[in-house]
Amino acid sequence: MIAMNDFKAEPSELAHAEKEAIERVLHSGSFILGQEVREFEEAWADFCGAQYCVGVANGTDAIEIALRALNIGTGDEVITTPMTAMATVMAILRTGATPVLADIDPETALMDLQAAQCKLSPRTKAVVLVHLYGQARYLDRWKAFCEQHQLALVEDCAQSHGARWGGRPAGTFGTFGAFSFYPTKNLGAKGDAGALITDSAEMAERARAIRNYGSLRRNEHREFGVNSRLDEMQAAILSVRLQWLSRFNARRAEIAARYFKEVRNPHIQLLSPPSPNSHAYHLFVVRCEERRRLAEFLKSREIESLIHYPIPAHQQPFWKEVDEAAPALPNAERHARECLSIPCHPQLTETAVSAVIQALNVYR
Ligand SMILES: *Cc1c(COP(=O)(O)O)cnc(C)c1O
Repeated sequence: MIAMNDFKAEPSELAHAEKEAIERVLHSGSFILGQEVREFEEAWADFCGAQYCVGVANGTDAIEIALRALNIGTGDEVITTPMTAMATVMAILRTGATPVLADIDPETALMDLQAAQCKLSPRTKAVVLVHLYGQARYLDRWKAFCEQHQLALVEDCAQSHGARWGGRPAGTFGTFGAFSFYPTKNLGAKGDAGALITDSAEMAERARAIRNYGSLRRNEHREFGVNSRLDEMQAAILSVRLQWLSRFNARRAEIAARYFKEVRNPHIQLLSPPSPNSHAYHLFVVRCEERRRLAEFLKSREIESLIHYPIPAHQQPFWKEVDEAAPALPNAERHARECLSIPCHPQLTETAVSAVIQALNVYR
């Protein structure tokens, strides 16, 4: 089976370093907010070209904590995309704010700037911009848009570790970049983990307090907070895996380049090719009108595929609790019907990539 992810095929050198890191933590006697977390936070801020990094428990919390640090909550509206992991929308709801969904650009599946503009209201306070599949696009325009309308910009970078726009890392355009280190992300832990990056000392401090019961000093709770800490074990593993991220991302880009060059089939559409380095290729997504048939055909050839995402946020059953009326978002609805993610992980061999291309090209 050519799988969507294959951790067992990772270099033994990496596996060995992970084991060492785990043992180091086991023997340190320190498990929460210690040296490992501080070191990873510093390394991740460096990698992203940001001033500060605050480790948190997962990517959903990262978005929620960013919005809370920005004082966004009940009565506020936050514009985001319907084509994302539900976590994005849930994080907005957790703050008490109302998610307002803007339709996507069909060529990229990313939220469309004009569509977002149409959703502005006097209550709009922020945009959560999702770099879906790993694509960092037009981040300068989004930053200018948010500045023009005095909105906070939070980047959902859960799929875009290492992506750049105009040479500048994703996550540094907004006040916060929110990352997930869920195991299958480009930088993944061995459990749940997440982080925020920011250039604002004040925002970093607030996020640090909120992740730890609103406390920066023992027994002093200066504001509302949650328990959303990154633990030492995950931080130690992330520090090891960070050393491999650039190599792994480069391999993903190589695979994607072959797909763009070699997949030729009138029944299968690719998304718009990105500018160099602006895509982390967390996922490589194609579109096909008969998606189910294509997925079955791939499966018959031992090729796994997945759908990101089959149901847009406004068509999820829970949406009626947000709003009794679902907005019409035709581009997102169509994308949800047609999109299919094909294998694009760093451990894929050239032979496997060729097999995927061959299968896509003979599909009728
Ligand atoms: C994975 C993901 C999240 C949520 O991250 P968790 O660590 O699972 O909470 C949020 N947004 C996007 C776009 C994601 O892919």
